[in-house]
Amino acid sequence: MSAAQGVTVVRAPDLFERVEHDERVEQFELARAQDLVPYFRELESEPGPVVRMEGAERVMLGSNNYCSLTEDPRVKRAAHDAVDMYGTGLTGSRFMNGSIPLHSELEHEIAEWMDAEAVVVYTAGYLANVGCLSTLLTPRDTVVADVADHASVLEGVSSSHAKLRPVRHARMDRLEDTLRRATSDGGGVLVVVDGVFSMEGDVCDLERVLELCRTYGARLLVDEAHGLGVLGERGQGACEHFGIERDVDLRMGTFSKTLASCGGFIAGPRAVVDYLRVHSRAFIFTAASVPAALGAALAAVKICRSDEGRELFARVRSNAAYLQRGLEDIGYRVIGPTRLPGREPIVSAIVPVVVGDDWDAVRLWRALYDAGVYTNAAVFPAVDRGSALLRSSVMASHKRDHLDRALELFERVGRSEGVLG
Ligand code: PMP
Repeated sequence: MSAAQGVTVVRAPDLFERVEHDERVEQFELARAQDLVPYFRELESEPGPVVRMEGAERVMLGSNNYCSLTEDPRVKRAAHDAVDMYGTGLTGSRFMNGSIPLHSELEHEIAEWMDAEAVVVYTAGYLANVGCLSTLLTPRDTVVADVADHASVLEGVSSSHAKLRPVRHARMDRLEDTLRRATSDGGGVLVVVDGVFSMEGDVCDLERVLELCRTYGARLLVDEAHGLGVLGERGQGACEHFGIERDVDLRMGTFSKTLASCGGFIAGPRAVVDYLRVHSRAFIFTAASVPAALGAALAAVKICRSDEGRELFARVRSNAAYLQRGLEDIGYRVIGPTRLPGREPIVSAIVPVVVGDDWDAVRLWRALYDAGVYTNAAVFPAVDRGSALLRSSVMASHKRDHLDRALELFERVGRSEGVLG
């Protein structure tokens, strides 16, 4: 029936209207007009210690290529071999036509590396978190998550419809209070934390988190995206650093950082992994990773598991400590290393410089970029309002010369921009 026939038609508000008046889009436009946008800058070389970006050489302090394996000839060769053997794409899900022997080999190799009973590989780390959380949790369950956890954790919780109880960042007292309350919600309880938090680079007090989980009967999932290939003698990540790798229920990892590729995994008890394989929609209803990604990740895992791995992890940590000290000596406010009671300070690969105001961070980013250093500008909502950072990170192939050059430029730019006294 139409309005002409006497029926009032109620029209829905236009969904696209908010797109035209979006604060973030407007800020982007403002920044673009002043050529201050720190995002979508194009890399014209490999993500090595010095890169070519937009026609100039810049020291790369904004890559997650922690162990520098994207440039490794063995990793590249493995990607080429995988293409030669299996083609460029698998055109379907693991569940159907998308499984190849590289998947089983990779899952097996990661399980051995991580001392886990079983591993399931997803097409991205994001999908591993979303797939695992949305499948394991039901609306009756509760998730206790650090507010600084990665967006994929929040996305997974949201699609599970489980009750979310956020906890202020790194506040163990709040975690305990929240766990106490969560146990009376009536369902199962899962605590989810990043082993190394992606923006601030601080390391979670996993020993304490595990102890609290045990006390209150909660399960624990640790996101090892930024710990893998950096922390622990064998590079398993933050759990290994604390010696609790066999006690944590589930660990998530990504191939997009140390493992020089694209993809992700969940490591844990065989029963849970098998459950995910047949229930997880983010696993069943998306195409498997391309063979090149699998071949590269497998070669990278093998290098991490060899003696060479230990040297690479140690070099990343020593480079991070060097950059951290250097920036502090110049006068920057730097986050880290993480200090926990009764423990040596823990250094991750991430060395963030605290700026505060979003626009100040963007201006400092631009001045550094022009001078020849690439960092990542982290502004709201990636970090809290007023807590903007320049997130720098190191890799194993940074030589002291590269870091000294970056420090010199940080000092010069800091003075000319009025950030340093
Ligand atoms: N967890 C954390 C902590 C991350 O930083 C990231 C990537 N930025 C992810 C998960 C998602 O991983 P991927 O890039 O493989 O999708």
